[in-house]
Amino acid sequence: MTLTDTEPGVAPDATPTPALLYRLEGVTRTYHQKGRIVKALTGVDLEIEAGDFVTIQGPTGGGKSTLLQLLGALDKPTAGSVSLGDVDIATASRARLESLRANEIGFVFQGFNLIPTLTAAENVDMALEPLSIPRDERAERVAEALTQVGLAERADHRPSELSGGQQQRVAIARAIVKRPRVLLADEPTGNLDESMRDEILALLQQLNGEGLTLIAVTHDSAVARRARRRLRLAKGTVTDITR
Ligand code: ADP
Ligand code: MG
Repeated sequence: MTLTDTEPGVAPDATPTPALLYRLEGVTRTYHQKGRIVKALTGVDLEIEAGDFVTIQGPTGGGKSTLLQLLGALDKPTAGSVSLGDVDIATASRARLESLRANEIGFVFQGFNLIPTLTAAENVDMALEPLSIPRDERAERVAEALTQVGLAERADHRPSELSGGQQQRVAIARAIVKRPRVLLADEPTGNLDESMRDEILALLQQLNGEGLTLIAVTHDSAVARRARRRLRLAKGTVTDITR
């Protein structure tokens, strides 16, 4: 990112503050389950800067997936506000949220979630379907994303013909091909052995170095150690445990 001091009407600032990507204020998410009320998140206040690499750790049932779903505009809070840029996810229309997910948010899951009957390139192309991009540009974008994850030579392979690490790289290509503002990952290395984990971790770090904001839920302390900011989520409450 470059800041210029020649913009009209903008005074040069010696200590520019990084742009804020997310702002959560008083976020509560309550589920009703068999007549019981489960408080998955209890009054979370959180700000996440653009370009950061944030991990979220914590015990099972602590609220990690709930938080990730809110950040991904897949769910709305019971109370409070979740802003991504200038959009308040709590009050935005369904169409606005759909467009947000299609354009701005990339998702990566523990189980890769690739379509087994489609090639790597076709899986990546899926993410461009909701965007109005001309056919030939789409093919270019897909090839570029597969190159970014080091899989240009495997474009025509189906998931069953790829290793776990390679499948996760296809999933990452599918997440970044839309050029999102943020990549949300739920246990991205959870199904991988150590060497493949390191390979995926290096790729994620590289993408973060290129400016992509990364937010990952992880049980893997090797992943958390690489983060710039570490959060812990337990009993619906977020604590910053960055040292
Ligand atoms: P984590 O991902 O940290 O394991 P979750 O966000 O999945 O935690 O869950 C937090 C709490 O909310 C848990 O008590 C869980 O049982 C409950 N919960 C999560 N999703 C639902 C749901 N769809 N319906 C009812 N309860 C839920
Ligand atoms: Mg979870």
